[in-house]
Amino acid sequence: MLTRMAPTPSGYLHLGNILSFCITAALAEEHGASILLRIDDLDQGRVRPAYIADVFSTLNYLGITWQQGPLDAGDFIRRYSQLKRLGLYQAALNTLRDKKMVYACDCTRKTIGHCRCRNRKLSLDGLHHQWRLITDGAALDGSLKDFVVRRKDGFPAYQLSSVVDDVHFGVNLVVRGEDLRQSTAAQLYICDLVECGAFRNVVFYHHRLLTEPGGEKMSKSAGAVSIHYLAAHGHTPARIFAAIAKLAGLDNGITDHLALGREYLRYWR
Ligand SMILES: [Zn+2]
Repeated sequence: MLTRMAPTPSGYLHLGNILSFCITAALAEEHGASILLRIDDLDQGRVRPAYIADVFSTLNYLGITWQQGPLDAGDFIRRYSQLKRLGLYQAALNTLRDKKMVYACDCTRKTIGHCRCRNRKLSLDGLHHQWRLITDGAALDGSLKDFVVRRKDGFPAYQLSSVVDDVHFGVNLVVRGEDLRQSTAAQLYICDLVECGAFRNVVFYHHRLLTEPGGEKMSKSAGAVSIHYLAAHGHTPARIFAAIAKLAGLDNGITDHLALGREYLRYWR
């Protein structure tokens, strides 16, 4: 089996990302799966070279290993950037277009609540038109109803690139936060339309999300929870794993990533 760690380099990795990687490592061990490192860099407006470099320095610092994917930031840019797979995403978008499952939408963030574009027959080739997928056949909640599969800048949207990548690499074990349950449903829906075969049988595991001590959602912009910040302030990997364990409600004597992942599964599954 193959699973993946798939960070987005739009901020420094934080405690919550690391918990997810620990669980991924423990489940990979359980299933005898390999781990692919996949870095989602399509959102070029938010990606920074420093954040790509941070993925490698943080994983190396914490001793978290992977068996497939880029060895370092340079290798990533040369061989694994999502920009190298634009043709694959475009092929999937063409399939959706051929099946008449997409329509163009020119709504802005402000007007999106009143989107009536499905009936407007705007050109799919229009400048700054995003493509929305007709989701009548899927049980998706509000925000993902007719979700965007191609952005206004012509790039594929996250839901599409993520599923195309998983199919491309042969991922069949996906570990992600509970906040992405609907995302999973959206991706399986795309998968049925583009006939991605084996991905239909993927095993998903959705884990609880870490919150900050105040109860707020952990965010990449919040410096004090980034590993980059903690390492710079002298926190050892053992101390960082202990902090994650405590936030996850586990025995805080845990000092390595695999033990943390195993303990999480033992306690919360
Ligand atoms: Zn619209």
